[in-house]
Amino acid sequence: MCNLKQMFQSVEIIRKKRDGVELASAEIAGMVDGFVAGEIPDYQMSAWLMAIFFKGLSINETVALTDALVDSGGRLDLSSLGRTVLDKHSTGGVGDKVSLVLGPVIASCGALFGKMSGRGLAHTGGTVDKLESIPGFRTRLSPEEFEEQLRETGICIAGQSEGLVPADMKIYALRDVTGTIESNPLIAASIMSKKIAGGASAVVLDIKVGGGAFFKTIGHASGAAHLMRKIGELRGVDVLPVFTSMEQPLGKAVGNALEVMEAIASLRDDGPADLNDVVVALAARLLPLSDLGWDRGRSEQEARKRITSGAALEKFREWISAQGGDTRFIDNPDMLPSARHVLPVPAIRSGFIAGIDALAVGGVALKLGAGRHRKDEAIDHSAGVVLNVKTGDRISEGESLASVHSSTEEKCRAAVEAIAKSYRISDAEVEPAPVLLD
Ligand code: URA
Repeated sequence: MCNLKQMFQSVEIIRKKRDGVELASAEIAGMVDGFVAGEIPDYQMSAWLMAIFFKGLSINETVALTDALVDSGGRLDLSSLGRTVLDKHSTGGVGDKVSLVLGPVIASCGALFGKMSGRGLAHTGGTVDKLESIPGFRTRLSPEEFEEQLRETGICIAGQSEGLVPADMKIYALRDVTGTIESNPLIAASIMSKKIAGGASAVVLDIKVGGGAFFKTIGHASGAAHLMRKIGELRGVDVLPVFTSMEQPLGKAVGNALEVMEAIASLRDDGPADLNDVVVALAARLLPLSDLGWDRGRSEQEARKRITSGAALEKFREWISAQGGDTRFIDNPDMLPSARHVLPVPAIRSGFIAGIDALAVGGVALKLGAGRHRKDEAIDHSAGVVLNVKTGDRISEGESLASVHSSTEEKCRAAVEAIAKSYRISDAEVEPAPVLLD
C-alpha cells in the first residue's frame, strides 16, 4: 500500500542521490524501511538503486545502509558459545564449492565454522542449492538449532534464516532484474549486513575477480574489499579479503550434485589443484582469526594435514549427518541425483586450452537446469557441466572437452555447442594463470 507522504519524501531522496548529494542516515533508513513495509513501490526503489549505481555512496552512507538492512530483521546472537565463530563469504562464482570443503577443514582443526548461505544468483551457484542435492539434508534451521549444532559439531551451514536481513533479500531480488548488482557500496552493504546479522565474529571474504565474477577487475574488487573492511571495523567483525581468479570455472564440476561429488573428492585429497589451493589459502587466513592461537604458517600446515589424514572428510560426514543428510552417498555417489542424459563436447580442433569463458559456462549450467531464471523456479540438482580440460591443457581434435548433464536430451544438445564455444584453443602452449591473486 503506497502512502502519499512517503511517496513524495522518496522522490526527494531519489532526486538528492541523483544529484550526488550525501544522504542522512535517517533518509537511507526511511527508504529501506518503507520498501520492506510495502510503502515504497519497486519503481521508486529501482530508481534510487540506479542513482546509487551511478553516484555511489560515501562510507557513512554505506554504513547507514548496512545498519538499515541489519535492522530490518533479527540478529543471531552466538555469544553464549563463548567462542569465535568463523565465517566465509564468496562474492559469487562458477563452480565455487569452496565452502563445502573449507567448512569441514576448519571444524576438523577445532575452530567453529558457522555460515548462512544463499541460493544461486544469475549465472553463479549457491551453497544451499548444492547442499539440497544431498538426500535428507536440511538447510532450514531455527536459530536455536544453528547454535546447538555449532556447539555439538563445530560446523553448521544453513540457508539464511527468514527473519534475518529481509530487506537485503527483497532489495537483492530487485537489483538482480534492474542491472544494479555491480555497485560496490550496494554489494558491500548487502554482504556485510548478512555477516553482522548472522553473528559472525570473523569472516574471510573470497572476492572473485574476472569474466565469471561480478567484479571484472582487481581495481573494482579492491574498492569493495576496502568498504567491507571498514564496515567490519566499525561494527566489530574481523574482515579479511582474499582475491581469487574467476577467469575460468573453479575446479571441473559446475552444477549442484556434480559439485558435491567434487567437494568429496577434494576432502579425499583427490580434487582439482585450483580448488585445493583456494581452500588451503582461505583456511590459512581464517584460522588465525579463530581462538586457537595459530599463525598463518601453522594454520596452512594443519589445514593440509586435515585433508591428507581424512579428518576433514570425517568432519564432513558428521556435519551432513547432524543436518539430517544420508551419509551413505559419501561412499556411494550414485545415491546423489544423476542426469538422465550426458553428452560429450568434442573439440573442433587440436591445440592448447587458452581460456574458458566462465560466464558462458555458468549460463549454460543455468539453462541445463542447475540454476533458476525466476526466484520460485525448481532446479534440477543433477544438471550441469563437467570440464575435462582446463586452461593450459592439451587437447586433440574430437577428444572430449567436457560433458553436459541434464534431464532432457534437447537441453544437452543445445549445451554442447555453447560449451564448445566457451573454450578458446590456441596452437601455442599456454601457462595457466594462478588462482590466487594476492
Ligand atoms: N553477494 C551478496 O550477498 N550480495 C551482493 O550484492 C553480491 C554478492
